[in-house]
Parts: sequence; C-alpha cells; structure tokens
Amino acid sequence: MRDAAIIGAGPAGLMAAETLARAGIAVTLYERQAAPARKFLMAGRGGLNLTHSEPLPQFLSRYGAAQAWLTPFIEAFPPEAVGAWCKGLGIETFVGSSGRVFPRDMKASPLLRAWLKRLGELGVKLVPRATWTGWDETGALRFAGAPSITPAVTILALGGASWPRLGSDGRWLAALTGIATTPFKPANCGVLHHWSPQFINRFAGQPLKRLIASTASHTAPGEITITRTGLEGGAIYALSAPLRAQLETTGHALLQLDLRPDLPRETLAAKLSGSESLATKLRKAGLSPPAAALVQELRHRGSNAPIADLVKALPLTITGLAGLERAISSAGGVKRTELTPELMLRARPGVFLAGEMLDWEAPTGGYLLQACLATGKAAGQGALRWLARG
Ligand SMILES: Cc1cc2nc3c(=O)[nH]c(=O)nc-3n(C[C@H](O)[C@H](O)[C@H](O)COP(=O)(O)OP(=O)(O)OC[C@H]3O[C@@H](n4cnc5c(N)ncnc54)[C@H](O)[C@@H]3O)c2cc1C
Repeated sequence: MRDAAIIGAGPAGLMAAETLARAGIAVTLYERQAAPARKFLMAGRGGLNLTHSEPLPQFLSRYGAAQAWLTPFIEAFPPEAVGAWCKGLGIETFVGSSGRVFPRDMKASPLLRAWLKRLGELGVKLVPRATWTGWDETGALRFAGAPSITPAVTILALGGASWPRLGSDGRWLAALTGIATTPFKPANCGVLHHWSPQFINRFAGQPLKRLIASTASHTAPGEITITRTGLEGGAIYALSAPLRAQLETTGHALLQLDLRPDLPRETLAAKLSGSESLATKLRKAGLSPPAAALVQELRHRGSNAPIADLVKALPLTITGLAGLERAISSAGGVKRTELTPELMLRARPGVFLAGEMLDWEAPTGGYLLQACLATGKAAGQGALRWLARG
C-alpha cells in the first residue's frame, strides 16, 4: 500500500501532505484540533509574514547554529519558491519596506482555504480531533479519537510548544521515548521587568516607537509595547535569543534602549540643557509620554547618569522571559542527530519529521514559516524516496 499518515495539520504537515499527494500517495492527515492550521491562522493576524526577500546567504544566516543543517532544505524550496507556490494558489505576494514578504491581502485564511481545497482535490483526507499518542507494541500509530493504523510511511509535524491553546503543546515529547530532544523554551517572546506601580498603571499597553534596543552583542531597531510584566514587540522578539542566553548564564540580563536614535548625543544634550523642568525638557527633546516617563522612572530609582545618557542608553534589568503561552515560537525539539539527512528518525525507519518540532530557532521576519514549509517539503520528498526504495 502506498499510503502515508501525516500527523499535525500546520504548515509543515500540509506541505508534506501536498508533496506526497502530488506523487499519487494516499495521504491521511491527522490533527488533534477540530480544524487545521490554527497557529498559521493566528500568524495571519499579524499580516502573515511568509518569508523574506534578502539575499539567500544573509537569509540562511538567520538560523544561527542550525544554518548548515537547514540550508539544503531551504535551498531546495527557497523564498522565491514560496512566492511562486502562493501564486499557484491564486495568492499574490508583495515585499514590504523591511524586505519581508506577505500575501497581498495580509491574511492567512484565503491562502489556507485555497490550500485545503487543493489538498482535497489531490485526495488528502483530514481526520480532525485525532490526537496521536505514540506507537503500540506492534508499531501501529495510536490515537485518542481515531483507530490505530499502520501506514507505509509516517510524517510527524507536531509543531513546537508556543501558544499551546492553538494545538501545539509539545506533549508529543512523551511519545518519543528514547529520542534525544532539547527542552522547549520561549523564542520571539516578551521579557519580564519590574515596573513601579505608578509607571505601569499609567503606561501599560502603550508603545515606544522608533527606538533601538540592544544587548551586549545584538541591536534591534523597532517598536516595543510596555506590558504589565515587562516588554514585548518586534525589537524585543529580535533580542529574545541573546537575552535568554544572558539570563541562563547570570539569572538576569541587561537591555538598553536608545529612545532617540535619530539624534546624536551632543545634539540631544544641548536640547536637554536649560533650567526648565525635566518633564518639559524631555518633551522638547521629542520624547513621547511613555518614553519620558521611563527616563523619570530611572531617575526616581536613583540613577544620577546624565539625562542625555539615559535617553541614548536607558538601562533596564530583565529578570526573565515571558512564558511559552504567548511566545511566537519555541526553541528546542528533536535533536538533529536523531535524523537522517532526509529527516527520517534513525531509530524509527519510515517516520519523518518536519517543522517547528525540530531543534532550530529563528527570529521573526518570515524565517519560521519558510523553514516549516521547506522541511515539510523535504520530509515529504524523503518519504517518497523511502516508499520508492520499498
Ligand atoms: C501569534 C503568532 C504569529 C506568528 N507569525 C508568524 C509570521 O508572521 N511569520 C512566520 O514565519 N511565523 C509566524 N509564526 C510562527 C509560525 O506560525 C509557526 O512557526 C508555524 O506555524 C509552525 O508550523 P508547524 O507546522 O511546524 O507547527 P504548527 O503550526 O504548530 O502545527 C502543528 C499541528 O500539530 C497538531 N498537533 C500537535 N500535537 C498533536 C498530536 N499529538 N496529535 C495530532 N495533532 C497534533 C497541532 O494541533 C497543530 O495543528 C507566528 C506564530 C504565532 C503564535
């Protein structure tokens, strides 16, 4: 029987399903949720950043320690191929000012609808509310919500562990006994900082715009949102990996904010001189109310650094990362050493893995979906070769 079971109907599983079904394999897709691709739909709320248009060497460098390992998969299904694939589904893409690539309508649902229609036409069967729980003693796949099965080939695309209420909660780790995994940690996530009650009661939810955030080793321009427990937003997500590394080493991390990156320090110092009140000077120096209040907060906490220094390099002690519940993605998962170059589990021939359940991480910018789609395709192709080898 040339049949395949794919477990997990996120972008990686759907891409694997398409690859196998196009080659004439009978594909059944099992998904624990009532509907497929809930995280993909959630990504659509932010405009669905599908990939990035920067040159491929720069693009590949975003995967850090996993770069060499992911390169063949992404070279085989590169950013242009993602654009062409969208076009084939009737969805035009565009390159935003930051080089990020989005569907023209910046939504996930039309793309997902067209994709599911195509999969239906290719004969892919979707079994919702079926939670995979492991293998039984005969090697059959076991489900809560569906009968056990023994397909000719299996692809697991179970996702990472962020936003667990959307379906991917990393509980599948328990079913992969004997397989080496790196524990899941939040990635592209918010950070924790202790605000004074006066500050946070006034500024929770407010944005700090057009700043540059930095750690000792990395900088990220962008926007930040003040939360009750700390900070979140693009510039913070971009720094979450170095901040996590610092937190793991010392228990806390230092974040610096340049609140007026467009002004040299001397110009700013001139604007801040004079006998007016600090609040007036900060307003005249162009700081928004939350940015000015941040500087005042530091002063109240005893900092006597010159004000221009605080505006150019406002130091904030980060005490932890916000949890996996609201992280964009997770770091960790099945270790690369457990897989063949075709993404097959060495310990379970005929079982291939794809997507965020594998041990890699990347910043936001379209790198996450790109790697999920590319590994989904690669796992599908590996499974096809496995079937061809009999
Ligand atoms: C708020 C938010 C915004 C995002 N925005 C972007 C973006 O703009 N660009 C970008 O590149 N990335 C973005 N991402 C990340 C991206 O959505 C994920 O990296 C991607 O969805 C992971 O794909 P996947 O197929 O590996 O896993 P998932 O999409 O997590 O899919 C895995 C599926 O497996 C199912 N499953 C899990 N366990 C079982 C089981 N035991 N049995 C059966 N089914 C199971 C889950 O229910 C789920 O449907 C965003 C994420 C979030 C949370």
